[in-house]
Amino acid sequence: MTTRSETQSTLDHLLTEIELRNPAQPEFHQAAHEVLETLAPVVAARPEYAESGLIERLVEPERQVMFRVPWQDDQGRVRVNRGFRVEFNSALGPYKGGLRFHPSVNLGVIKFLGFEQIFKNALTGLGIGGGKGGSDFDPHGRSDAEVMRFCQSFMTELYRHIGEHTDVPAGDIGVGGREIGYLFGQYRRITNRWESGVLTGKGQGWGGSLIRPEATGYGNVLFAAAMLRERGEDLEGQTAVVSGSGNVAIYTIEKLTALGANAVTCSDSSGYVVDEKGIDLDLLKQIKEVERGRVDAYAERRGASARFVPGGSVWDVPADLALPSATQNELDENAAATLVRNGVKAVSEGANMPTTPEAVHLLQKAGVAFGPGKAANAGGVAVSALEMAQNHARTSWTAARVEEELADIMTSIHTTCHETAERYDAPGDYVTGANIAGFERVADAMLAQGVI
Ligand code: GLU
Repeated sequence: MTTRSETQSTLDHLLTEIELRNPAQPEFHQAAHEVLETLAPVVAARPEYAESGLIERLVEPERQVMFRVPWQDDQGRVRVNRGFRVEFNSALGPYKGGLRFHPSVNLGVIKFLGFEQIFKNALTGLGIGGGKGGSDFDPHGRSDAEVMRFCQSFMTELYRHIGEHTDVPAGDIGVGGREIGYLFGQYRRITNRWESGVLTGKGQGWGGSLIRPEATGYGNVLFAAAMLRERGEDLEGQTAVVSGSGNVAIYTIEKLTALGANAVTCSDSSGYVVDEKGIDLDLLKQIKEVERGRVDAYAERRGASARFVPGGSVWDVPADLALPSATQNELDENAAATLVRNGVKAVSEGANMPTTPEAVHLLQKAGVAFGPGKAANAGGVAVSALEMAQNHARTSWTAARVEEELADIMTSIHTTCHETAERYDAPGDYVTGANIAGFERVADAMLAQGVI
């Protein structure tokens, strides 16, 4: 019988290998560390995982595609971006995961996101593998026509790698309904197929699922509520700080408000807004979704209850709950210390890996309930899988039905993580629970399917 410490040293050795084999990919190293650091108990208990080279296979993407994306701006100048699709693991189903358009995108970022997606998708209990893609294209300040030409060029290469039974992209940062529309149009034109299940996050009326736009934010609030329930509390009357002002943040605020909490902040890269009366969602949606503007405009138009803090950290605002919903590593150790000092009870990740490892450690040590993104924000991809199911059946479900399924999935993810953590002597540790439960499901499928 292998001991946990022997297993841990094997995993540490593998982590060193990962760093050597994948140089200059700090986000991918971070994501791999975060998972492999928690797997020793399960690998020690099930030696067949180590014997089959399973973890070495798991950290190596099945396929990685990088391509040139040339397009013309409105002045007729040729621009060149880089496109990516990392097809990480298809043991449980077609590769599934979003596309991110942001200047910070590079191969390491897409690999970290794809790696996270494997476990997240496994936790949903649905038949979806893990993948992720995107580009270093920056949609900010670009006209609709430029975004369309970019999306068409991007899809002109991507189409040959995807398909409803192969790989099903969706949105992420910088990719919303508008971009999915242009991408789907070009896919349909090139392939001459109405293959609605090839992309998710589509518009209502042409294959999109009701509640998909809301799903990540709604799901995260349901996960936070489940963590609070474990401690004998609920959301009613709690003050919440939310970062970001994109799709995830907006629907996080919407659900928090609906369940009686007071969501007082939102942010973007220019700074944050704090609104004592609670964020006015109609105004925020108008500014972000219709005008595609910045959050300072919110404070200008909202009146006395709101102020804009340029360049500040949203985590300085005292609150019972924190829901980071912007981007990776946005909540560091200092921010975590401030949250703890201000009495935060729960932190639940709407974004992917928004909390640094040091901050996670500090929060857990202080007894704060911490919901890792691969569990807490899985509602988005879960409803994407429900969109695929509707597309395959050529039907569409009511909003009430999708919302009910989403609530069931989030409850079941919470229970799975909670019980798995207890089973492996880490009660209340949702990071360990999520990593081990997600890993077991993928690992068992990989074992059954042989060395491929
Ligand atoms: N980008 C989202 C995520 O991080 C959703 C992916 C999807 O719907 O496929 O999970």
